[in-house]
Amino acid sequence: MMTLYAHVAPLTDVFGRHLRSLRVSVTDRCNLRCRYCMPEEKYIWLPREELLTFGEIRELVSAFTALGVDNVRLTGGEPLLRRDLSELVRLICENPQIQDLALTTNGVYLAEHAQALRDAGLHRITMSLDTLRADRFRALTGRDAHAQVLGGLEAAHRAGFRGTKIDSVIVRGVNDDELADLLEFGKQQGAEVRFIEYMDVGGATEWSMDKVFSRAEILELLSRRYGKIVPVVGESSAPAERFLLPDGTVFGIIASTTTPFCRRCDRSRLTADGMWYLCLYAQQGTDLRQPLRAGASRDQLTSAIASAWQRRNDRGAEERKVQRFRGVFVGIEQLRQDPHLEMHTRGG
Ligand code: SF4
Repeated sequence: MMTLYAHVAPLTDVFGRHLRSLRVSVTDRCNLRCRYCMPEEKYIWLPREELLTFGEIRELVSAFTALGVDNVRLTGGEPLLRRDLSELVRLICENPQIQDLALTTNGVYLAEHAQALRDAGLHRITMSLDTLRADRFRALTGRDAHAQVLGGLEAAHRAGFRGTKIDSVIVRGVNDDELADLLEFGKQQGAEVRFIEYMDVGGATEWSMDKVFSRAEILELLSRRYGKIVPVVGESSAPAERFLLPDGTVFGIIASTTTPFCRRCDRSRLTADGMWYLCLYAQQGTDLRQPLRAGASRDQLTSAIASAWQRRNDRGAEERKVQRFRGVFVGIEQLRQDPHLEMHTRGG
């Protein structure tokens, strides 16, 4: 039986972009209701029997790593809602092709799981934190859990995690007055802060362009406070552009809305029920659960993945940017018909 490994020539799409990063959503559920992601009263959830087991996720991850993927990020929804997540971490870490295994979490349950995740081999954590004010956190997320999130960050440090990142979605009129406070907080915590522009992806049913606090505005506001800001040079496929403050602090901006980076995008997304999407904005995906459960071999899976990637010409954020009239990307009725269009299903 022929099996491909990471040292084979990298798999490239129509624009020459390599397949390197895989985001694996382990659940579509979330315990917060952030206004920029899940502002609705009710959601249609994926049927539980359709969710991939940990063994199935391991098998699909192995098919991807056989094609050159070497970094995996566990996402959701909120991934720590999936029971025994550290067991999945342990299974994925057994794969010698994995160079980097990271977790994106809202931090609410991190304190109770940080040590087990570290012991299982998780490399890095990215925590979402949009405000340092408990009252604002409650207004933004609908939950009173700010102290738990801060406790989660401390617990991650105690458990031995380093290089933690704090992701802050900045929405005009909501938290754009906290940029410097978030940066100072990141410095104290030894965490790199990344400011994210509000994106018009599926699920962002309250999005409008005037609420986007742009990369340019972020840089301008921070330069007024800190002085000259310079870009950190170096080619990277990471979504964040990194910048340096005069005091040596590094921070990032993920400017998908005003400054898309599709040309260097090496990411794709696997949902908790085994649908594979080649772009955050893609309307259709490839069902990998069905062939997996029907007994497809590793080679059959890798050839299905390879042929889809070689045909990939997605550049969703760039296409959105040039639209003359830009409103909500997917309407509520369409989201109800296909929850795979939601960002919380696809993994942000
Ligand atoms: S919009 Fe699509 S192609 Fe562009 S960076 Fe995001 S996932 Fe990649």
